[in-house]
Amino acid sequence: MEFVLKQQQEELPYLYLPLFGDGGARALFTTRLGGVSRGCYSSLNLGYHTGDQPDAVTANRRLTAQALDIKDDRFFTVNQVHGDRVLVIESETDVFSKKGSRADAMVTHLQDVALTIFCADCQAVYIYDPLQRVIAIAHSGWRGTVARVAANCLQVMSHLYGSRPRDCRTALSPAAGCCCYEVGENVCAAVKEAFPGLWQRLLAKKDTDRWHFKISQANSLVLQDAGVRKENICISKLCTICRQDIFFSHRGSKGTTGRMAAVLIQ
Ligand SMILES: [Zn+2]
Repeated sequence: MEFVLKQQQEELPYLYLPLFGDGGARALFTTRLGGVSRGCYSSLNLGYHTGDQPDAVTANRRLTAQALDIKDDRFFTVNQVHGDRVLVIESETDVFSKKGSRADAMVTHLQDVALTIFCADCQAVYIYDPLQRVIAIAHSGWRGTVARVAANCLQVMSHLYGSRPRDCRTALSPAAGCCCYEVGENVCAAVKEAFPGLWQRLLAKKDTDRWHFKISQANSLVLQDAGVRKENICISKLCTICRQDIFFSHRGSKGTTGRMAAVLIQ
């Protein structure tokens, strides 16, 4: 299964995963299309901390809420720091009081709370337990991936709600693909340390002498190690660096660019 572009006339286009968890949850991913930002933020930049005009970001967030049919105040976002901390949203009070906390992953059993991660090349990991009705999303760049932030989500889900990883449906968002994701010695060393014996599957040398990181394969391994069935892991093949016609890419733009939103809601 792959994320599909939903584009109706005059409406903001976005990607979604058809029938995620038999339709019990919606896994969504915005593109860079359809917004009001200009220049390198053109056009649907959803990140305030990018250098873009705040008014434009506010307008873009409003357009996104409308298109996804989610109320503005139901988006739950955190202060992402490339860490492995999981924030749990346990009550309606939490929905308002915990917004903006330092974390890179979120878990909730609540309905109508849109767990949201901003990214441009980093991967979003979506997790849905259709039996316990719990959702989680993780922001997983190379740092989050070697720190196994997605596995931390599963652990919290299991501890608090009795979720079993083998029941969970998961998806990996569009991200920097192996085709383009060249990494240095520091990343290679971290990958080798985090995946001893398996790192040969996660690092590949392309035509040049430089290593490329397979972030989707790494996150898939993290999920499988935690007990998720391989057939319940949906991996997007879309590369954000190759497809800068539809995605923002931090690497592709040398750092000055917008952010997409990965959203999971039940
Ligand atoms: Zn690529």
